[in-house]
Amino acid sequence: MIEVKNLRKSFGEVRVLKGVGLTIEKGDVISIIGPSGSGKTTLLRCMNFLESADLGEMVFDGQTFDMSRMHRKDVLNIRKKTAFVFQNYNLFFNKTALENVTEGLVIGRGMAKDKATEIGRRLLNRVGLAERETYYPSELSGGQQQRVAIARALAVEPEIIYFDEPTSALDPELTQGILSLMRELADDGMTMLVVTHEMGFAKNVSNKVCFMDQGQMVEMGPAKEFFNSPKDSRSKAFLRTAQ
Ligand code: ATP
Repeated sequence: MIEVKNLRKSFGEVRVLKGVGLTIEKGDVISIIGPSGSGKTTLLRCMNFLESADLGEMVFDGQTFDMSRMHRKDVLNIRKKTAFVFQNYNLFFNKTALENVTEGLVIGRGMAKDKATEIGRRLLNRVGLAERETYYPSELSGGQQQRVAIARALAVEPEIIYFDEPTSALDPELTQGILSLMRELADDGMTMLVVTHEMGFAKNVSNKVCFMDQGQMVEMGPAKEFFNSPKDSRSKAFLRTAQ
């Protein structure tokens, strides 16, 4: 479904991604793990063109793109098939929970407001926030805001959802709620690429794991295999401290 090859990205003199590759198949739930600063978030942001790549190729649904020279039209087309859930939710603060979910449908897709509202209500119900549709983000907990962000992601019926450390701003109790919701999405067959420090999620929910270190994809493979018998010495060292 998506393949990335030889992705390179520097910020000034700092080489953050040094030729990273990744393949995602439909239904995959892939956790990207690795030490702080290894380039995980930058990889995800380059994949949705929130950062521009210096070099790299992406095959998306059979079409090949030069990631360093993306046409705006192609970026918008790919973004229509993807959704992004941020660490800090990125909700509109002057809009209610329901409006946050429907905004992309009404403004982005030109859907009639009634239809978008119906979808928005269904999705808020899906993430356990049916009673909170008129609340503003400032009136919601971090966990509830992240649920709204997930409902917003689901609203556009994406082929894949990218999650960038979706629970790292949350306390442990709220983290578990979001991880359970993500597990439900995974069980429903949603394709997900998740940057995470939650080893429980990586081990038990994702089917594949990508381990990054210092801008390189050091090891990737089935999650069980990675956790039970990591092959690379850097993966082994990381797992000793992370679990
Ligand atoms: P963490 O687990 O701590 O979130 P990460 O693996 O996601 O880390 P990145 O956020 O991708 O790592 O950052 C990788 C490196 O790139 C870091 O050294 C970071 O300082 C640098 N970096 C990221 N974004 C920028 C930017 N916009 N400008 C300059 N340097 C950046």
